Amino acid sequence: MSKSSSAPINTDIASSQPAHQSNSNSTKYSNIVKPAKIDWQSDDTGNQVPVSGEFGDVYFSHADGLAESRHVFLNCNQLPERLANLAPQQCFTVAELGFGTGLNLLALWQLWRQLRTANPELATSRLHLITTEKHPIPLEDLTQILTLWGQRAPELAELIEQLLAAYPPLITGCHRLDFIKDNLTVDIWLGDAADSLAKLDTTASSQPAPHIDAWFLDGFAPSCNESLWADAIFAQIQRLSSLGTTAATYSCAGIVKRALQDSGFEIKKVPGFGRKREMLTAVMIDNVVSADISDKWASRDKRAGSNKKHSFDRENSFDNSNSNRSSVSSNADKSKDEQILSAKPTHVVVIGAGVSGLMTAWALANRGVKVTLLDKTAPLSGASGNPRALLAPKMTPIHHADDHLHTIGYLYSSRFYRYLNEQAAINNTPPILEPTGAVDLLVKSNVSIKEITDYPDEMAITLPVTQAEDITGLVALDLTENLYLPQSGLVNPQALKNAILKHPLITFRRLEVTQINETETNIGIISSSYSDNEDESDSTVTIEADSVVICAAYEGHQLDSRIVACRTIRGQLSWFTPTAEQQADLPKLPLKYSGYCAPFIAQTGDANLNNMLEDQPQFLLGASFVDGDKNISIRSDENQQNRDKLIRDIPELDNIIPTDTSLWQARAGIRTQTIDYHPLVGLLAQSKRLWTLSAMGAKGYALAPICAEIVADMMLGAFPPLSTAMLAKISPNRARLQKALG
Ligand code: SAM
Repeated sequence: MSKSSSAPINTDIASSQPAHQSNSNSTKYSNIVKPAKIDWQSDDTGNQVPVSGEFGDVYFSHADGLAESRHVFLNCNQLPERLANLAPQQCFTVAELGFGTGLNLLALWQLWRQLRTANPELATSRLHLITTEKHPIPLEDLTQILTLWGQRAPELAELIEQLLAAYPPLITGCHRLDFIKDNLTVDIWLGDAADSLAKLDTTASSQPAPHIDAWFLDGFAPSCNESLWADAIFAQIQRLSSLGTTAATYSCAGIVKRALQDSGFEIKKVPGFGRKREMLTAVMIDNVVSADISDKWASRDKRAGSNKKHSFDRENSFDNSNSNRSSVSSNADKSKDEQILSAKPTHVVVIGAGVSGLMTAWALANRGVKVTLLDKTAPLSGASGNPRALLAPKMTPIHHADDHLHTIGYLYSSRFYRYLNEQAAINNTPPILEPTGAVDLLVKSNVSIKEITDYPDEMAITLPVTQAEDITGLVALDLTENLYLPQSGLVNPQALKNAILKHPLITFRRLEVTQINETETNIGIISSSYSDNEDESDSTVTIEADSVVICAAYEGHQLDSRIVACRTIRGQLSWFTPTAEQQADLPKLPLKYSGYCAPFIAQTGDANLNNMLEDQPQFLLGASFVDGDKNISIRSDENQQNRDKLIRDIPELDNIIPTDTSLWQARAGIRTQTIDYHPLVGLLAQSKRLWTLSAMGAKGYALAPICAEIVADMMLGAFPPLSTAMLAKISPNRARLQKALG
């Protein structure tokens, strides 16, 4: 049987798009993405519909793909009822095999929006879609496909626009797209589904293990592509499902039925969509296969009729006459669910208001958790408070990208800051990320240009020399070797801080934590409050919370000795106000060499953190690197070092950059680094409530947003966007750190 069995094959193929990546290494490394090749056919009503060039099957029905998606995946997983009945803060997880055109996502998203509008109780409930795709459709083709859908189904138009804006570059690994206003998280795992599902972590959560609530089994017909119906896939489906997990597929093929049954699902044939007579729905009745799968669906359906607000829960999938064991576990499981929900943290204290603490507060607050953010000084008073931070990828050969934390973090941060930019534009506040692009002069890079050719152009591209000269403004340097990073930009920390502290669930308090006491039921923070008023004495403040996250960089070790003592590296960044004449000859966009430099214009709010005048041009360069130094006073010799480094790598700037560096402004901060360079992210050993997110080195603005998502997911029992192996690499309790101490 084919997914397209109801539609005659139309040989009148309108166009055939080439794959957009060169992928010279894609045959050598199996984990390099091979984009889909799209062919076009006419459907039953004369609309152009995409067909997979690899597999020769349709992405969706020729009758009406959207109606099919709603029937097969939404209704037959009973999502309208189940989603409407979610409890506050509850996260419902859907997993999809084959993201394709994203039509299932759009149908699901639209349903979720409708339900949230109709049911205000869903305000803090979440929807998480985990979807897999081996041959992602290039953005250009996807735009063409979804534009057609936007015309056919105008109710999808706004969602399509958001999806296209967030669509990731085609690089293997997990790409998290957050649609924050809709409480919707979409993790697109690019790569073979069996590999991606095997990476989903169920062990790192401080809550009972996360599980998938509903599966969209949407591979091409088994006759066209067996890989999504293989034993390895069903082994993962079984591992990731729980009692009551449902699955739906348009396919009624024998291998699908048998595989679902062998994986612990009870199956049922129901009427298919359009001309398809039947399709399959399934419910997990046991992780261990039950020999007796008699007429349980019939009894479930009878009960469903008598219960208007019926949710497709475990009880309804069992027949009470012959499943004693099942109904016991069903009830036990239900009360476990209730415990899980009540045990979820509702108030968390975050210690440290640098970029790690701010991002942690944001990730939790967006999940409905109240956050008290503490700092002994002020937000961004430490190393995160530079005037600007350069957000640029640290390139690695593409076949390593999926387990390269910096690449994962960079891609997520870019998307996240762009989302904040949209909000800033609405609020008429300074942008969080100035999308300047950047050029890496490859002075310090550990990858060759050749190794980078496999990357999509939007991530990195080598420019022809004349273009590189135009874009940088450099005229004498040999720019044959260059890397243009189009999506790089300058983060404005002050604007980021303002956007985050506006969140109604985040409260900042200036307090110095002196003690943390964890008990079985909560965690107490004892701290000192320093009064700015000389007449008032300092006082002791105690705060109780469900969990605490220590984001105090190298000082985390003093708050809890389970956080390893880290290397401390002093870095001083320098800046000056160029004259109009200097400005004309300075680099026109950020450059990476053995340091980095960037021109920018000071924005409203900059002067609250650093010495500069609003609307004035600035040129920054840095940073110094002094190992083992925790002193943050400004040193004029380090301004000179920053100048020397720039001139050594780009000699033509010697005549342009002022020589008297003693007049420059500067800021020194301490970067915290572990011996293996990975940050510390996770629950501390032997603790149920004490977490850390620290040791970001100089990469906080790239790493903290994704690491904060990871901590929030682990704390609330959701699937984090990182593989189990990667989570182990950043665990604060990893053996490698302990060995170094011993
Ligand atoms: N759900 C999609 C939608 O809404 O447009 C349609 C999915 S289409 C029928 C099947 C998808 O599975 C294709 O996009 C195909 O590239 C993908 N696929 C095929 N084999 C795969 C594999 N081994 N791992 C992950 N994805 C795979």
